Amino acid sequence: MSAAEITSIVKQCALDAGFDLARVTTAEQFQSDRQIALERLEAGLMDGLPWYNEARILRGSDPQQLLPGARSIISLGLSYFTGGEPSRDDLGPKDGSELKGRIARYALGQDYHRVMKARMKAFVQTLSERLDASVDARWYVDDGPMLDRAAAFRSGLGWFGKNTNILTSSHGSWVFLGQVVTNLDLSPDQPLAKSCGTCTLCIEACPTGAIIEPYVLDNPRCISHLTIENREAIPTELRGAMDDWVFGCDICQDVCPVNRKAAPATAPIPMLQPQIGGAGNAGSTQTRQPDLLDLAEILQMTEEDFRARFANSPVKRAKLAGLQRNACVAMGNSGDLNAVPVLLAALGHAESLIRGHAAWALGQVDTAPARQGLEEALTVETDPWVRQEIEAALASGGAV
Ligand code: SF4
Ligand code: SF4
Repeated sequence: MSAAEITSIVKQCALDAGFDLARVTTAEQFQSDRQIALERLEAGLMDGLPWYNEARILRGSDPQQLLPGARSIISLGLSYFTGGEPSRDDLGPKDGSELKGRIARYALGQDYHRVMKARMKAFVQTLSERLDASVDARWYVDDGPMLDRAAAFRSGLGWFGKNTNILTSSHGSWVFLGQVVTNLDLSPDQPLAKSCGTCTLCIEACPTGAIIEPYVLDNPRCISHLTIENREAIPTELRGAMDDWVFGCDICQDVCPVNRKAAPATAPIPMLQPQIGGAGNAGSTQTRQPDLLDLAEILQMTEEDFRARFANSPVKRAKLAGLQRNACVAMGNSGDLNAVPVLLAALGHAESLIRGHAAWALGQVDTAPARQGLEEALTVETDPWVRQEIEAALASGGAV
């Protein structure tokens, strides 16, 4: 069989396996992407991700290091867009749901890494059967070393948006990317001749200014990083900009005109459909708007509760302490007086990270009980950082 014939079988096999998009590129090194990644690492734009280091970039930009003898990369896309959801703007003013926290759409279903890897494994097995040959392959999602966006771009699966996401013509950036490095000799596709043009909507909409210039993200400023991988205190100057996001952020995708025309997933996968909200949404494939987490419930969760609730969810990556920290910030940003009792209780939390953010949040809510609680906490608090947060909250004049 010719490379073109094998490539045709590969793409049909990928679509049969349920992927929405399948393209092919060579297994050559990603030299320019490697250089850019190294420069951004050096510039501190990936700070806070200790596992993202030079060795990882060198390995991930050289397919031969991932699979000796690699000849091609099959770039796959799986849409998680169910269609019909309103954008954040369309949700309108808050209406009694102030003590709710928002989750990025990709995280509303089960953990996509597991779904994608299982699907790619099945795809490779089916491919071996259809070709009646042993196919050497390694498959990667975004938790592996592979420079997945670089491969998606070079294969023509999509183009780089100024928000650094890969935009696909048909499904926008609402796609999970997967890359299969293989020894198969396939016919490569070409990159798309598309770009964002003069649009800058995502840059203007980013509340923390994390897109510091087109195609450049300052990761430590991104709400997605701050709420998920970050294990430390949220920088004070960024807390207000986080609004009610407690896991990830969709703003720069919601405003993107390419996403507003995105087609829903060809065959929505039940495991990736929104399941994370209240019991009424469990297992539903009909949810029409992004789900919200109950902030008070999050703050009162035990480790056992957390593990049970988020066992199969991407949300578990934030860890309980991280999610509770985020919940404090969202409560502070809500300005809702109903948050005060919950935040006062959190001043006695075992984790200093939570006590400090609860203190900040109380400083944002304008009540006498908040001030009184902060003053009382200051008489017993011994952690220097938490004491600073309490003193700053009292000095902010918010809690009076
Ligand atoms: Fe900015 Fe949110 Fe996009 Fe991060 S995810 S770049 S914080 S809009
Ligand atoms: Fe590109 Fe505009 Fe979308 Fe940003 S909002 S990724 S600039 S098309």
